[in-house]
Amino acid sequence: MFQITLPDGSKKAFEQPISALEFIESISISLKKRAIALQIDGDVFDLNGRLDHDSSVRILTDQDVESIEVLRHSTAHLLAQAVKSMYPQAKFGVGPTVEDAFYYDIDLGEDVLTESDLAKIEKVMHKYAEQNQPIEKSILSKQEALQFFQDDPYKVELIESFPDGETISTYRQGDFTDLCRGPHLLSTKWIRHFKLLSLAGAYWRGDSKNKQLTRVYGTSFFNKEALDQHLYWLEERKKRDHRKLGKELDLFMLSEYGPGFPFWLPKGMILRRELENFWYKIHVKHGYQLIQTPIMLNKDLWVVSGHWFNYRENMYVSEIDEQEFAIKPMNCPGGMLVYKRDIHSYKDFPLKVGELGLVHRHEASGALNGLFRVRNFTQDDAHIFMTEDQIVEEVAALVKLFEYVYSVFGLHYHIELSTRPEEKYIGEIATWDRAEKALADALDSIGKPYKINPGDGAFYGPKLDFKLRDSMNRIWQCGTIQLDMNLPERFDLTYIAPSGEKKRPVMLHRALFGSIERFIGILIEHYAGAFPLWLAPVQVKVIPVNIDVHTDYAKQLIDTLQVHDIRVEADFRDEKLGYKIREAQTKKIPYQVVLGDAEVNNNTVNVRPYGSTEQTTLSIDAFVQMILSEIEGKK
Ligand SMILES: [Zn+2]
Ligand SMILES: [Zn+2]
Repeated sequence: MFQITLPDGSKKAFEQPISALEFIESISISLKKRAIALQIDGDVFDLNGRLDHDSSVRILTDQDVESIEVLRHSTAHLLAQAVKSMYPQAKFGVGPTVEDAFYYDIDLGEDVLTESDLAKIEKVMHKYAEQNQPIEKSILSKQEALQFFQDDPYKVELIESFPDGETISTYRQGDFTDLCRGPHLLSTKWIRHFKLLSLAGAYWRGDSKNKQLTRVYGTSFFNKEALDQHLYWLEERKKRDHRKLGKELDLFMLSEYGPGFPFWLPKGMILRRELENFWYKIHVKHGYQLIQTPIMLNKDLWVVSGHWFNYRENMYVSEIDEQEFAIKPMNCPGGMLVYKRDIHSYKDFPLKVGELGLVHRHEASGALNGLFRVRNFTQDDAHIFMTEDQIVEEVAALVKLFEYVYSVFGLHYHIELSTRPEEKYIGEIATWDRAEKALADALDSIGKPYKINPGDGAFYGPKLDFKLRDSMNRIWQCGTIQLDMNLPERFDLTYIAPSGEKKRPVMLHRALFGSIERFIGILIEHYAGAFPLWLAPVQVKVIPVNIDVHTDYAKQLIDTLQVHDIRVEADFRDEKLGYKIREAQTKKIPYQVVLGDAEVNNNTVNVRPYGSTEQTTLSIDAFVQMILSEIEGKK
């Protein structure tokens, strides 16, 4: 006799083991038709299993996020099945799901796939899917599995790496069988709305000494609308590539003389300054003090901080007066020295010290990617020193600050709480438990939902990560709040407690943007280069209809705008009006102002906002007020 607990808390008791499908039928026959998988005590299983012990069970349908992984992985098998039928010599590596997609690594022998083959493969996949082939699971011993896959060297290598005695499962559909842990759909009929996206080369097991396989990427959804929406986003992501827009909008450049070290151009500097000014203002308002620590510091400091032993391969080093120095990969150790300059009392707490510091970290040249992956970037770290009983309140205040900042950019987010790693961690478990609880309590105190990532914390403490979602449904890890039990020990940080004793402060690191460079890259794509007025490098473009007649009036207007710190450019070239307007559009300037006879005679401006075909006529004063209030509101 065992009991199954359902998500609503209700329980069902069974005398005998029961198959997953019978179990679902016992709840609802219509649910059986829609069920994709079962979540049993947190893990996802397919529907060909049995229930035989006390457990908590959730029935997953096509409405649950967990189900889409099952669908996508089953689509990867369908891809392999189709490829195998078309290229019988094909051997298969691995075929997992990744964010929003799946892939399969395939060895085609002498054959080469091109983009045009993808549609042919899709056609065969649709044919098999429509046949409603059952997907059947079998359990083999390691010996049997080696025997079965003897013709596929990749699968043999995988099987050999499994521990002896481990049971191995395979999934079969039609005449195609794959080595697989599952879970899978019960039949191919669910696989209808999919698309093969692209091809790439991938070394077997990610090792460049191994053979390069063909990686086929694809994605799959339960309904057509979701697939179409996703494909639209993918197209947009290509169009909005920040490397392309960065060039077109004159924001930044990259040079072979400094791979991974971006150059900021005048227009990009304006964007950057606005972002940094915003950062400074809100931090000062929230009680932060700001410092700047050196770029290069003596090796001895990095020995104390531990970076010399744990992070050495990512650091650039040099020598000064025959002593080893390193360029900082993070701001924290310098910040610790600043803390130690003074004696601190509990009365100074919480003490918040921030720095926009330029850090350098080595990245392999192949990993560099525009502003997203660089070798130097500006980290917006800050350290908060406090007592343990201040954690909840401080973290709650921080989360609210993060929320405000992200909302200014229209970026939605969710929070993940990462807890103590299983093995590699420092400090006492009891301290970890208290720290994790403090972070959770902080979120609970302001009603913020969060997801727990068990074991995913840093070795020095638990953390909250902020995952931002941009306008193309991409997730970016930017903000982080990390409790650190390591550096205060290593640097022997102290404060004077009310009792007069010296005590160790609690310290946390927190970054809002993470990297200013990367954040700008995200913003460029998020806004497709059409920045809100407060960030736009050029806010107004003034275009006289006839440069012989309207230039003086245009100059007057420019003076008036500049008095109010509005960033304005004028187009005094002898070109056609339509051409000048189109060009201002391609530069995504928020307001284009056209000045002709009517405007000069009435002392007005004719205004066309970016992306709009509507024009309005305003007095100069009304125009200035409109701009200023839009900048002020960061709309
Ligand atoms: Zn599989
Ligand atoms: Zn730090």
